[in-house]
Order: sequence, then structure tokens, then C-alpha cells
Amino acid sequence: MTIASDPLVTSQRISTAVEAWLDAHQQAQLMIGNRWVPAQSGKTFESINPATENVLAHVAEADRADVDDAVKAAREAFDSGPWPRMSSHDRARVMRRFGELLEEHADQLAELETLDNGMTIGASKAFFKVGMESYHFFAGQATVVMGHTMPSAEGMFNYTRREPIGVVGGIIPWNAPIVSALWKIAPAVACGNTIILKPAEQASLTCLYLGELAIEAGFPAGVINVLTGFGPGAGSALSEHLDVDKISFTGSTEVGKLILQASTGNLKRVTLELGGKSPNVVFADAAVEEAVPYALAAFTTLTGQACGAGSRLFVQRELKDEFVEKLAQQVAGLKIGDPLDPATTLGPLASREQFDRVSGYLAAGKEGGAIAKIGGEALAGGGYFVQPTIFDGVDNSMRIAREEIFGPVLSVIPFSDEDDAVFQGNDTTYGLGASVWTRDVSRAHTIAHRLKAGMVWVNTYLELDPTMPLGGFKIGRAHV
Ligand code: ADP
Repeated sequence: MTIASDPLVTSQRISTAVEAWLDAHQQAQLMIGNRWVPAQSGKTFESINPATENVLAHVAEADRADVDDAVKAAREAFDSGPWPRMSSHDRARVMRRFGELLEEHADQLAELETLDNGMTIGASKAFFKVGMESYHFFAGQATVVMGHTMPSAEGMFNYTRREPIGVVGGIIPWNAPIVSALWKIAPAVACGNTIILKPAEQASLTCLYLGELAIEAGFPAGVINVLTGFGPGAGSALSEHLDVDKISFTGSTEVGKLILQASTGNLKRVTLELGGKSPNVVFADAAVEEAVPYALAAFTTLTGQACGAGSRLFVQRELKDEFVEKLAQQVAGLKIGDPLDPATTLGPLASREQFDRVSGYLAAGKEGGAIAKIGGEALAGGGYFVQPTIFDGVDNSMRIAREEIFGPVLSVIPFSDEDDAVFQGNDTTYGLGASVWTRDVSRAHTIAHRLKAGMVWVNTYLELDPTMPLGGFKIGRAHV
């Protein structure tokens, strides 16, 4: 089976609003204390459009000196500014105004995200919606942060208060910047904290746009700050900083370990949201016609660059060949190309680095003995496109089954019975997500419980709801 693929993107239909925003931000700046300033070093770096490899804008490169300034602004806003002191209703009012502005600018934000990161415009809008649902959820929580009253002896009164932590550093990845940024900003500021957001160097532009809307919404100076820059540099200075009280990080396991180490100076609190190699387990009694499109979405959403991607597909042996055949047919129907075109269903990878990494895994899969049922190649010719790939004949010992690829690459592994599915599904160092497909309710609950993953879906995949926790087992995700 082959994939029709001529993804060369020569020109894109960019809206006048986003064109104007880009024109005005060719030398983007840092947002510190509600002011826009260049990096003290004067350094900038390029933000690249992954579909065309053209430069979208130059972004300020913050380093330690800028981090110091931003921490001062955030510290002052926390220690003596109005934000933690105002009534929770007033905080919620500012948050609601920010939410309205975000919704008003939804189209521009989604388009800019697609230009900067390469996700399809459909995915960009869908993820924006997820981000907004979470945002509204946390904005609503601002007024219901409550402590407890405990039994007290006569003449005593025992109670707890939920207090804000202080200055929070939010370090986010490039795969879904808006939703990641909102997941960091909303809970932090709802509780009265101040935040310094550090977007990933590969896709920072929408975070700058969010910063502009935050000022317009009326957040007092220093409550929300945005520092663009590199991981070693802005990111490490933020995580080491003795005046930062908490780091909330989403990204790779390797960097998560560095952040934990960097946090020891002042024993700051750390929340880590790391990688995954999630098992999607399909039993022979599953509703196959429903399971196939979800199995497709599980490894191709965001071009596979999702921490919860279902990148290991376990299918009960008697169903495996039929299932893989149907899935390959759907893969063949994907439209690879310009992510701004609404008809496109698979965009490029987000960066040259990611393209090289995924290309390396495609080669490693074949060298390791796996069979590319469909795909298997990177696509030369401009833009960071690779073929969506189903590897059959995989077992859990292969690199492609053990390591997080973060690309549209699926490993298919057969299993015999429930025990085998659980054993193989759990045979990974990660434990973020999992799914089980079956018509048997009892089996669904049993397997969901036995799979060691923070989120287990039943007869669906990658559904996110802000009321549900995003926890995890093993190195996939840790909360410290
Ligand atoms: P990925 O491997 O998915 O690119 P990373 O974990 O490298 O993800 O990056 C996620 C975020 O962490 C980015 O904002 C990046 O700049 C930041 N980062 C990278 N290295 C460090 C570091 N040593 N300290 C703090 N932040 C870092």
C-alpha cells in the first residue's frame, strides 16, 4: 500500500490579521512586568515555519539577566502587588476578561499556532478548544479555593487555608503551545500566584500573543510574564532561580530530571508532565469499525507529537492482520501537506531536529527487523514531512517500541489473552496513557485497572476533559 504524498508547500494563504501580526513582530520582545523589552544581550533567534522552512519572525533570546528581571517583577507582584490580595471574585473577573479576549482572537491564535508549529489547522482549533475548556474550568475555580475547619477544643479554632505558592515558572514544550500555556497560567493565577511562562524555542509566537491579550485583559504588572529563549539559558536559569517557588514543566523525561536537580537550591516545588509510550489495546471482541479511526488518530494527531499518543498498538492475535489492513487503508487516505489547508489531515513535524530524530527511528525500525506495512520514509523536498508509518512485526524489545519517537510512527504488537495484553502493555518505562477496546464491560474495567497508566480510556482515545486529572506512573509523569 502506498501513500500519495507531494507535500511541498510553496505558498500559504495567511489571513491579513495574522500577516499584520507577523509584520509587527519581526523583532519580537520579552514581556516583563507588562512591558515589552528586548533581551539585555540583544540576542534573537529565528522562529521557523516547519511547512516551508521559512523564517516567520525573530524572537528575543532571554538569558539569566532577563530571568532575574522577570523574577523581580513577578516577585514584587506577588509580595506587594494587588493580585494575591484582591478578592477572588475580582481575580476571576480579570480571568474572565482574558478568556473572552482569547475566544475573540481564536482564529488568529489557531492560525499562528499552525504556522509556527505545523499542526493542521483542524488540530489547532480542536486543541484551542481543549485549552479554553481548561482555562474556563480553572477561572471558575478561582472563587472556590477553600480550606477546612477541623474539630477544635473549647477555646481553640483549628482551620486550614489554601495559600498561593508565590512565583511560578511555567516551562512548556513546542507540540501544543497554547493549550500547554493555558494549563500553566490558569491554575497558577486563579489561586493568586504570579507566573513566568517560558515557551519552547521551536514555537514561541502564540505565547507572545497570549501575553499581549493578558495585558489587555487587565492583569496587574508582573502577574503574567513571557520569556522566550532556549532551554539551557532561560529555562535552566528559571529552574535554578532561588526566588522562584515552583516550576511546572511539560517536556522530555531527560529535561524533567535536570529540572528536579536544578530545583534543589531552594527546594522549590516541581510538577513534571513528561513523555509516554502508551499502549492502545484492542481485543478481538472490540467494535473494529470504531476502533480503527481512533487507532489512526492516536498516533497521527499532532503528527504523532503528543505525550499521550497511542504509539504501541496491541491487537489480539486473531484480529491483528484484519485490523492492520483496515488501519493501513485509513493511513493511505491521509492528506499530507500544507497544515493551513483545512483539507490537510497530516502536517509536518515541528522542527528540523524532530525531522532528523523521527527519520532516525524510521531507519532503526527497519534495521531492527520491523516491517513497514505502510510508509517508512521521510519526505524530501522542503518542510519537515515524514510518511505516517505502521510498523508490523514489532516486539517490545525493539527500540521503536521502547523509546518515545514523537512522530507518526506506530508499532503493532500482537497479544494472546488478557494477561499477555497487560504484561506487554505494562512492559515499558512510561506510564502516561493507555486505552482498552472491548465490548465486555467487566473486561474493560479489569484491564483499565491493571494497565499502569495515569489515564486509561475505554473504547476511545485522547479525549481530554479539564475535570479529569492528568496523572501518571513511572517515568512518564511524576508529581513532586
Ligand atoms: P522536547 O524534547 O520535547 O523538545 P524538551 O524537554 O527539550 O522537549 O523541552 C521542553 C521545554 O523545556 C522547552 O521550553 C525547552 O526550552 C525547555 N528546556 C530544555 N532544556 C532545559 C533545561 N536544561 N532547563 C530548563 N528548561 C529546559
